[in-house]
Amino acid sequence: MIEITPLTITTSASVREALDRLNRTGEGVLLLVDDAGRLRRTITDGDLRRLLLAGSGLETGLSALPEQSAITAVEGIAPAEALGVMNDNGIDHLPMLDAQGRPSELLLRHELDSKILLSTPHLGEDELAFVKEAFTTNWIAPLGPNVDAFEEEMARTVGMAHAAAVSSGTAALHLALRLLGVGAGDEVYTSTLTFVASANPILYEGATPVFIDSEPASWNMSPSALETALRDGERRGRLPKAVIIVNLYGQSADIEPLLASCRRYGVAVVEDAAESLGATYRGRPSGSFGDLSALSFNGNKIITTSGGGMLVSNDRRLIEKARFLSTQARDPAPWYEHSETGFNYRMSNVLAGIGRGQLRVLGERVAARRAVFERYRSALSGIGALDWMPEAPYGTGTRWLSVCTLDPALAVGPEHLIASLARSGIEARRVWKPMHLQPLFAGCRYYRHDDAESFSDQAFARGACLPSGSNMTPQEQDRIIRALEHALRRAEHRAVASAR
Ligand SMILES: *Cc1c(COP(=O)(O)O)cnc(C)c1O
Repeated sequence: MIEITPLTITTSASVREALDRLNRTGEGVLLLVDDAGRLRRTITDGDLRRLLLAGSGLETGLSALPEQSAITAVEGIAPAEALGVMNDNGIDHLPMLDAQGRPSELLLRHELDSKILLSTPHLGEDELAFVKEAFTTNWIAPLGPNVDAFEEEMARTVGMAHAAAVSSGTAALHLALRLLGVGAGDEVYTSTLTFVASANPILYEGATPVFIDSEPASWNMSPSALETALRDGERRGRLPKAVIIVNLYGQSADIEPLLASCRRYGVAVVEDAAESLGATYRGRPSGSFGDLSALSFNGNKIITTSGGGMLVSNDRRLIEKARFLSTQARDPAPWYEHSETGFNYRMSNVLAGIGRGQLRVLGERVAARRAVFERYRSALSGIGALDWMPEAPYGTGTRWLSVCTLDPALAVGPEHLIASLARSGIEARRVWKPMHLQPLFAGCRYYRHDDAESFSDQAFARGACLPSGSNMTPQEQDRIIRALEHALRRAEHRAVASAR
């Protein structure tokens, strides 16, 4: 995405002016428009060269250029389609026209070819050494010294006494529910504003999810909505077997009041800290508060083992049981003896090696993600229609994802912003669609933070997640900021125009 105003030139301009403009803008193309701003054709160096060779002078007007039907795209073209049009026609630029035929954007091949993704793995310097060690010592099979060390190191980081490394965050959550005895007929409460992996394990166990709204200060589980739900559960004679508290987008939930409610009703707590590793709550690490807490090292998380997870707890018995269940629940016997359903959920020794290396750079990764967020916030502070997911005063988040919100007065929503960024080769995503709105969970109970409106519905309707990787270059961040400015200023402009 580039600002197209400096590239736009009218027929009254001269060849000299056009050459000067090409020279200063450096994109190799100008957009020739008529008095109404409609695109007549594109102009390249070659077009001007041919004009001069045919006998025109530097002061010749651009109306001397032959008519030419420019290759253009209609507004809202999909990036892959735009790239296809460029390939078919051997061009590197594609002007996008509005309904009146005026250029509104210029799509660039080099941007569509070098995509900036939402959140990509960022390796440090030690991962390979740990993996190599696993190879040279032939500890390729599951279990081994990296697994033991990764568990120990991660438990220390999260401030829990024990840890079991598993194949995914989802597996960790599933084991947590299994360990707490969740089964058919039980209810389990969880945040509605989350990734589906927080809720799926409830279904694995044949239990019924109940969803709790978020509160505006942190976008996490609302303590008042949880209290209402628990009171109602008690009245119905059906208190939940567990509450899964999710820490969203790198920020801890307001743990104290949530825990207090669960303790009062005697309900076990699972912390879904898949998105919040490295965050703190009142000075303590996120993930240290549940009876059991689940971590994820999926490829898009703040640190990764390509795929993996961990279950942490201060209860040694629970973690030992988790290791047992995650390795097919094999009873101690001289043959293969089984008296319980087990799972193949254990993390491999090779992947644990990646995890050990990643854990050493966790602090740097947190700082880098927070810096990306601060850069967006300060660079875009002039855009009134844009706001940000807040950081609650009780802790420090990681800004695992930088999440913005669009003013409802803006005519366009996040899907428009995301499509516009995509045309600049930038990946952005919607905020999680709340679980109570998912067809999978139709009919499940849902408790709002506010009787008048559902906060999570608002966050979904207005929010967008921006590229947040700790390995983005300053140039890539600038490109994102420029594309955001362009998309939002145009949207603001439209909002003002339609209000008139
Ligand atoms: C990523 C994620 C999970 C699941 O982790 P996996 O390792 O991908 O299975 C669970 N909960 C939340 C909130 C997540 O973001």
